Amino acid sequence: VPASPTHIANTIETELLQRVAAAVPSHGAGRVADYIPALASADPAAFGFAVATVDGEVYGTGSWLAPFSIQSIAKVFSLSLAVARDAAAVWGRVGREPSGDPFNSLAALEHASGIPPNPFVNAGALVVTDVLREMTGDACGAVLDFVREESGNPTIGFNAAVAASEADNGDRNAALAHLLASYGNLRGPVDRVLDDYVRQCAVEMSCRDLALAGTFLARHGVRRDATRLLSRSDAKRINAIMLMCGVYDAAGEFAYRVGLPAKSGVGGGILAVIPNRCALCAWSPGLDAAGNSVAAVAALDAFTTMTGWSVF
Ligand code: GLU
Repeated sequence: VPASPTHIANTIETELLQRVAAAVPSHGAGRVADYIPALASADPAAFGFAVATVDGEVYGTGSWLAPFSIQSIAKVFSLSLAVARDAAAVWGRVGREPSGDPFNSLAALEHASGIPPNPFVNAGALVVTDVLREMTGDACGAVLDFVREESGNPTIGFNAAVAASEADNGDRNAALAHLLASYGNLRGPVDRVLDDYVRQCAVEMSCRDLALAGTFLARHGVRRDATRLLSRSDAKRINAIMLMCGVYDAAGEFAYRVGLPAKSGVGGGILAVIPNRCALCAWSPGLDAAGNSVAAVAALDAFTTMTGWSVF
């Protein structure tokens, strides 16, 4: 009996993902983030990988259905939602250059008179959170509404213990927020903006959910229900900022190995975009010295090498 086209596609995808997983020898390599105590208990050997196509298909391997702390990956969604409402409100207050400084640097912010270099360092994300709060009243709530709809998973939420743990150990982010406020670049109450920021970081999603929620960037700004979130230009711009600023101070090495726009988080997840084709999410909690997941980078490297798909 000839296999149906869907069956063939499923078999090809499944075999590809198995080959990707097999090409990642580094499960358990790297160090789990411990500066937020509630993250330190993650299993360094955990690994998941998912592919969500622009047509709405989703495939995965390993622990691709296990929720994890998305941390800085939330910055892609809050930026997209703020830009969709009023791009000028964002770009008047945040730059678009890679920083070359640590993601939580105070010195860079002081030197730039309170204008963060880009929306993916913490100072930039605090400003974007402030902008989105002004627009919606609750930036984390706006992010949750969006990722629930795009992934079709209404159970996505944030982990209150992780948010509290980050808040309890958040002196540096509080310092950034106060410095921004001193320059007039944080308008809401500092404690409220910080609370909204740590709740976004503490959102828990699986590789499946994240790949589906990121697919609008592969569709040039079009959402799952075919409505448009971002103009084609704004989707291109956000992908460009991910390519340049999405993986801490490792953008050069990541572009060299993987060749995709991506955003990583200290929970060990990486969301990557292949325009016109799919969004990918790889996850494993062990991080390299730059703060990117060792196994997730290796899996994305294997995927783009095996498929030949990249933006280059
Ligand atoms: N919540 C973390 C922080 O603000 C996010 C860090 C990250 O994933 O880059 O430090």
